Amino acid sequence: MYQSKYLNRVFSNVKKRYVNEPEFISAIEEFFDSMDFFVDSDPRIEKEAILERLVVPERVISFRVAWVDDQNKIQVNTGYRVQYNSAIGPYKGGIRFDSSVNLSILKFLAFEQTFKNSLTGLPMGGGKGGSDFNPRGRSDNEIMRFCQAYMTELYRHIGPNTDVPAGDFGVGFREIGYMYGMYKKLVNDFTGTFTGKGIPYGGSLGRKEATGYGLIYFVRETLKTFFSTTLDGKRIIISGSGKVGKHAAVKAHELGAKIVAMSDINGFVYDENGLDIKLVDELSEARGEYSLEYIKHYPQAKFVDDPKKMWAMPCDIALPCATQNEIYLEHAKSLKEGGCYLLIEGANMPSTVEAIRYFSENGILFAPGKAANAGGVAVSGLEMTQNATHLPWSYEEVDKKLEIIMKDIFKKCHDTANKFNQPRNLALGANIAGFLKVYEAMVAQGVI
Ligand code: GLU
Repeated sequence: MYQSKYLNRVFSNVKKRYVNEPEFISAIEEFFDSMDFFVDSDPRIEKEAILERLVVPERVISFRVAWVDDQNKIQVNTGYRVQYNSAIGPYKGGIRFDSSVNLSILKFLAFEQTFKNSLTGLPMGGGKGGSDFNPRGRSDNEIMRFCQAYMTELYRHIGPNTDVPAGDFGVGFREIGYMYGMYKKLVNDFTGTFTGKGIPYGGSLGRKEATGYGLIYFVRETLKTFFSTTLDGKRIIISGSGKVGKHAAVKAHELGAKIVAMSDINGFVYDENGLDIKLVDELSEARGEYSLEYIKHYPQAKFVDDPKKMWAMPCDIALPCATQNEIYLEHAKSLKEGGCYLLIEGANMPSTVEAIRYFSENGILFAPGKAANAGGVAVSGLEMTQNATHLPWSYEEVDKKLEIIMKDIFKKCHDTANKFNQPRNLALGANIAGFLKVYEAMVAQGVI
């Protein structure tokens, strides 16, 4: 129950209408938790039906993706693109390939992306796409045929000023290359319609590391502002075998932190003296997984074959970087018992609403992914600028800009939280600061 009648009305409609979309409902619920501090103080939000409009994506495209596997068998998947909100710029957001992909997950991601992109200060609307195709175990040729089949439909809905996809879970340089190649062939136009591209054909230096590095720049600001300290000597645990966690570990290690535990799909490794991050980086290069190999090199490290058990390890800072809903209430409690005082999300919505409420009631400072992991899409925005001006920037230039953007995002969240007399509530800061820009733009553009 919210204080605001307006929020209760909109939320109960959302729950009724999207009963089969639990992830989407959670994303709205988390967002409305923050709006409750604010929405009634500005009657224009209700009058303009801003929230009723924001809980419905502008457009959802769903299509069949038929392709032929290496055994000459015809395979059929479902492809999607959720074009959520274009109030402040072209739709922008990644593409996810995973067997779990469905409309609920993509709508939640596209909703979050709308506010995340707004927080970067760059002109990008929100979108997300993907397919229930699982790339694990597929040959390179199968991946290529799938990406090409996916693009034969998607190409007509995207463009450099319309919708600019990028990578996400299951989509990296290889997949973007195949998708972009097919897109270019079909439209006969070399434009920056994708970001996260390979460097030789318009990609940005620093994009690969951006989400993980940006996350650590955000952590550094949080430590400085709230705890008057630095990363030096802090014990950190990081989940996820993707690009985000790995690059976060590299940057945090560089800044003097001790990464005591990291998890992948097989389990987690723990070493109270700090893991060998160079080795994790090397081992994870091929498939993202490293834990089973790691303990062969460091038999004194501890290996547990259940990644979820990592949250019970003692630490100062936890950085969940795997996927949505990896931290439930029980994990939040274990984190507290292990001494964790700061949890910052590298993935999109890894903490459940119950876990987030527990953090705030139990003195664990929390920052949401839509602020802390915005570095990836921010550098995507910088890639768009480089493509539009036909001028590539150096790595140092991109990294410097990323650092400035992350500091600015932290400041927006912190200032907004203070404005509402909730100084430790960075989720509120992120949600309201991200919302305000989208809201102003929607009002200015009329009822469309
Ligand atoms: N998938 C990433 C995210 O969740 C990056 C999106 C992009 O670069 O467009 O923000």
